[in-house]
Amino acid sequence: MTASPSPRRPIVGGNWKMNLGRAEARALILTLRQRLDGLDGVDVVVCPPAPWLTDAFDLLSGSSVHVGAQNTHWEPSGAFTGEVSAPMLSGVAEYVIVGHSERRWAGETGAETNRKLRTALAAGLKPILAVGERLQESRAGRTESVLHLQVNQALRGFTELPPSLVLAYEPVWAIGTGEAADPDVAQQRCAMVRGMLAERFGVLAAATVRIQYGGSVTPTNIAGYAAQPDIDGALVGGASLDPEAFTAICRAVAAEGSR
Ligand code: PEP
Repeated sequence: MTASPSPRRPIVGGNWKMNLGRAEARALILTLRQRLDGLDGVDVVVCPPAPWLTDAFDLLSGSSVHVGAQNTHWEPSGAFTGEVSAPMLSGVAEYVIVGHSERRWAGETGAETNRKLRTALAAGLKPILAVGERLQESRAGRTESVLHLQVNQALRGFTELPPSLVLAYEPVWAIGTGEAADPDVAQQRCAMVRGMLAERFGVLAAATVRIQYGGSVTPTNIAGYAAQPDIDGALVGGASLDPEAFTAICRAVAAEGSR
């Protein structure tokens, strides 16, 4: 399904993963604020490691750059040593990534992703739900069934599509490998995910949800994704640690949206 012009404001997220010490993180946050505050036509979300969320919240306060967490626990509180809950995150972050493949590899199940989504939404966070197939699943022609399973498990029991939900289509084989998906393939997969949402929640709801592409996005390849009708920005890992690269990606997405 394609809407033209897009009714959706693109969104670019920077997933720093488990990188940067505090001083480096603060410096990067300040640089990004200088370069990206007020950038029109795109929502920019910075997702530092949990210990630096408070720094990000403070340093980005009053700017247009949003803060996101990389994960949440599925319970709001309790005896879960070392975990961080959605109500805690909601004091310092607006978004939260849920179901990233690096967490699924670490054993996160579809049922847990579903619970995390629920607790994030209940705490007022905007979830970025990541889905994507592995290389062997892609090669076996199972991409559609894998995406269908991940989307339906994550949204099990939902009767409406949460308006704040963002999806990220991230083929696992493209994450951190430099092997970015062909933009036409990424478009086809994002349209496929939108179609799954349309089946569950209706065409109108699905037409409003933002779907990012993620997987080895760089300043060089971002234009190819940003030009696609069903791709509404990017979730960026490695390149989000480089202020030049991340700024260029955000600007390219904003420029495409204003064409
Ligand atoms: C990610 O971490 O979600 C990601 C897409 O990483 P990279 O851009 O490094 O492939």
